[in-house]
Amino acid sequence: MSKNILDTHVCLGYDFLMKQPESLQEAIVYFVDPERAFRYAVQLRWPDARINCPRCGAEKHSFVKTRRLWFCYGCKKQFTLKVGTIFEDSALGMDKWMAAFWMICNCKNGISSYELARAIKVTQKSAWFMLHRIREAMMVGSITKMGGKGPVEVDETFVGPNPRTMHKDRRARQLSAYGRRPKAIVMGMLDRESRQVRARVVPNVKRETLQDAILQQIDKGATVYTDAYPSYDTLAAQEYIHATVNHVSEYVRGQVHTQGIENFWSLLKRGLKGTYVAVEPFHLDRYVSEQVFRFNNRATKDNPLNDGDRFALAMSQVAGKRLTYAELTGKGTDSLHS
Ligand SMILES: [Zn+2]
Repeated sequence: MSKNILDTHVCLGYDFLMKQPESLQEAIVYFVDPERAFRYAVQLRWPDARINCPRCGAEKHSFVKTRRLWFCYGCKKQFTLKVGTIFEDSALGMDKWMAAFWMICNCKNGISSYELARAIKVTQKSAWFMLHRIREAMMVGSITKMGGKGPVEVDETFVGPNPRTMHKDRRARQLSAYGRRPKAIVMGMLDRESRQVRARVVPNVKRETLQDAILQQIDKGATVYTDAYPSYDTLAAQEYIHATVNHVSEYVRGQVHTQGIENFWSLLKRGLKGTYVAVEPFHLDRYVSEQVFRFNNRATKDNPLNDGDRFALAMSQVAGKRLTYAELTGKGTDSLHS
């Protein structure tokens, strides 16, 4: 017989009477109470209130209120809210994590590690690491393919600083990483019907690279709009209905255009230029995911999401994802904790 959440020493059930925060200011006030931040995070991590051990899956455990951890009767070990999530190994309190989540989910152009460090009083290094972990939580894979109901716009873009204004060492590093073109390539797809974007860094713009990505993400038989780039010219042979616009002579031909995904590119680049001073190519995929998250969860007439909804959505994705400092930097964690 598994133990019900209400049998634990403290009631971790939903706080129906407490008003959910709706703005950053309310969120900071709300989460400044560590007990409240903890309870809120527990609800988001285990939304059905069935708390189970992240190590062995057992649902039989006792809660040690004074230390905010559980003792698992299955594996006889303790677990905390942070085990098995992006918070694992972090010494920072949930109040700081939640405020950081709020900011990154809701600031339209993102937030720099310097801004975050000032806002929640941690070192810039800690803030940088937090932001990357949060971006990891914002990444979502999907098993459903795009294009089932309407056309999909596909495009790719080059991201990176102008090599002529780049510092000599940085230029050299990028040149060694990317060969002759010191820029990274991001490929994106926008489903016109669902208004959802998928985007990620690709190694090159060769035909097989772009075509493989399309085959993975878009239903066969779907309508695909691209520009006239030759790498796309075998799509019709792959059973797609393929139409192109030639950007030399035209940008829109009736329904055939890629302006939706190009709009996404300008949002991505504005965020990268304004907020993130220097994005290493290695980290670019996570910055792209952050922008995709905000774009796909923006408020629309049919889907009136607010700041609190975006925050809750990102927070609910923290389990099962981990990113260690060593993975991010190739260094140890000694210099990290503030
Ligand atoms: Zn266990």
